[in-house]
Amino acid sequence: MRDLRINSDENTTLEPVNGYGMDKRQRDELSRLGVEAVRFDCSMAQYTTFRVGGPAESLYDAKDTENLRRVIAFLNREEIPYLVVGRGSNLLVKDEGLEGVVILLRGTLAGIAQEKTDTSVSSLRPHDMTVEAGAGLPIVDLLIHCRDSGYGGLEFLAGIPGTVGGAVAMNAGAFGKEIGDQVKEINMITAGGDVVTRNRSQLKFSYRALHIEKKSVIIGACLKVDTGDVKTVANKIAGYLKRRKESQPIEYLSGGSVFKNPPNDYAGRLIEHAGLKGKKIGGAMVSEKHANYIVNTGDATAKDILELLSLTQEKVRNETGIKLEPEIKIVGR
Ligand SMILES: Cc1cc2nc3c(=O)[nH]c(=O)nc-3n(C[C@H](O)[C@H](O)[C@H](O)COP(=O)(O)OP(=O)(O)OC[C@H]3O[C@@H](n4cnc5c(N)ncnc54)[C@H](O)[C@@H]3O)c2cc1C
Repeated sequence: MRDLRINSDENTTLEPVNGYGMDKRQRDELSRLGVEAVRFDCSMAQYTTFRVGGPAESLYDAKDTENLRRVIAFLNREEIPYLVVGRGSNLLVKDEGLEGVVILLRGTLAGIAQEKTDTSVSSLRPHDMTVEAGAGLPIVDLLIHCRDSGYGGLEFLAGIPGTVGGAVAMNAGAFGKEIGDQVKEINMITAGGDVVTRNRSQLKFSYRALHIEKKSVIIGACLKVDTGDVKTVANKIAGYLKRRKESQPIEYLSGGSVFKNPPNDYAGRLIEHAGLKGKKIGGAMVSEKHANYIVNTGDATAKDILELLSLTQEKVRNETGIKLEPEIKIVGR
């Protein structure tokens, strides 16, 4: 475990003493570039839906593109690791915490959706409408905006507790649909700190993944919507939420589906068949309601969840020969 010592001159600063992590110069420069929006040694538990995880060495609340651009260029120049976190709803942070910088998208980067019509086409059809959203915007806020404006096409995302950026990065999907099919273009910042736009034909989505340049941060997305009416959109959203409530343990803390579905099968079916429903390690439990969910029953640690995840993989592999691949992102030391 990382050894942190409180600097006697400035008791808010934690100095790494084991030869990893940022040095004082890097911390100072990060604070300067981050314009007072940088904090050090912050628990990640409150930034993930599992509500577990050790401290991030640093947390940066990015509020505008220009600032974020400079910080990303700096982090790459200095080879400091970083991770952009949306709602942490697909994330398991280990108990030992995270080295480097966790980037949270706020302010204009989490801006409310704006709609525009594609003026490059002469006769407007319903799908020529798009909604533009900052990557840090919670999906729920995007859907409220769409519902109130009568924009359809994204209702299947209802109940996914992530952000627009996280959903695009993960190609989030439900009920046979994926967000990738709705993406017209994205704006992102590359590792070099350049702001670029990638249109649909330049983007490769696959099952729960978007393949973009390494270390890029998505800052916004333009999503195709249909013009509909408020009532129809509201009813569809309510319908999807009802289906979720019936089949998923949303009353518990979790990270959503733990494993990807293997080809032509369901991870949940395989886990249930292995007799693991209700299996507990510490405060982590395989959900009784949906076997592909590991839930935090209250006092789980990341270690409990990881042990249960490994046990599940092992049992399913022994029984079926199938190695389940985690859908959740496991990060940290
Ligand atoms: C109760 C529950 C139900 C769920 N149901 C579903 C479901 O039906 N379908 C589904 O697909 N998922 C589901 N999930 C999982 C999760 O909500 C989605 O994957 C969601 O899209 C993740 O968004 P996030 O903002 O929380 O991303 P995070 O968990 O914060 O991050 C996930 C990954 O995306 C990366 N990332 C996040 N933002 C950006 C960005 N701006 N630029 C680049 N990379 C970024 C992160 O670095 C990380 O690797 C569920 C989760 C829960 C807890």
